[in-house]
Amino acid sequence: MARLIDGKAAALALRTEVARAVEGFVAERGLRPGLAVVIVGDHPASRAYVRTKTRMAEAAGIAARLIELPADIQTAALLERIGELDADPAVHGILVQLPLPETIDEAQVLLAVSPKKDVDGFHPANVGALFSATRPDPDRLLVPCTPLGCLHLLRQTLGAEGLRGQEAVIVGRSNIVGKPLAALLLAADCTVTVAHSRTRDLADVCRRADILVAAVGRPGLVRGSWVKPGAAVIDVGINRIEAEDGGSRLVGDVAFAEAEQVAGAITPVPGGVGPMTVACLMRNTLTAARLQSGAGG
Ligand code: NAD
Repeated sequence: MARLIDGKAAALALRTEVARAVEGFVAERGLRPGLAVVIVGDHPASRAYVRTKTRMAEAAGIAARLIELPADIQTAALLERIGELDADPAVHGILVQLPLPETIDEAQVLLAVSPKKDVDGFHPANVGALFSATRPDPDRLLVPCTPLGCLHLLRQTLGAEGLRGQEAVIVGRSNIVGKPLAALLLAADCTVTVAHSRTRDLADVCRRADILVAAVGRPGLVRGSWVKPGAAVIDVGINRIEAEDGGSRLVGDVAFAEAEQVAGAITPVPGGVGPMTVACLMRNTLTAARLQSGAGG
């Protein structure tokens, strides 16, 4: 039976560490790290995520602001609002919650947040820096939060040197998860395969993996029989499905009950990668404040 990778506990430890470092930063620099979270429209899951993000930021001693904008806002007006936040010295990190309504030009929005305030790590300058660094340093570079959280959990599970030479298979090639995680695992000396919706023989590809990451958005896609015995399985998926009692519940992209029989270690959903994403956002906000105040890592 697989060891459970406790993302909640790991996230709490990281948030506690960040909170302590935030107080150190405030004492030393006389200024408090600030985070602005921008949400457009009223997508229920997104609303829940931004509430958690601002609440956790406050708990870590970060001054958090939630900016709620209507779904019918024009791209130009949104860019103007982001420009104001970008110019505000009290705001060190800006996060624009995705997905944006289809009427908004997302690429322009991602460009409007300057790289040093881009706590999601989605600006092309940060993406380029991540992919071109031999050893990307998350104390000096803003790296996307979910992949950073996955890396943290893998290091904790396998040990600092435990990733070297491992076969890693990531299912999903999104800009938010799959692609940046591939860059991080490559830099951690894994041999990385990125699989996707057009991959042939996906089950066979997954069976090669010492480290198997699912970031797809399809409940239970990855079956127990796809998992190599002893593999570390990271389930990024968050899917709401109908529950037996007529309500709903969250499940991942991995068929958990099957996979836990085979894997060496596995993240649950909920309580795995999700909490780490938020903790890494706190870490990135502190990193952004340090970079902007010239305090370095
Ligand atoms: P996305 O829709 O942008 O990308 C999904 C990827 O899965 C695509 O690259 C696609 O090629 C691949 N895919 C789709 N169907 C497939 C199939 N049948 N076989 C193989 N590959 C297939 O999604 P995303 O934004 O990367 O999110 C993926 C999942 O992770 C979602 O469930 C999302 O809710 C979740 N997520 C969780 C967190 C977190 O903090 N835990 C953060 C971001 C996303």
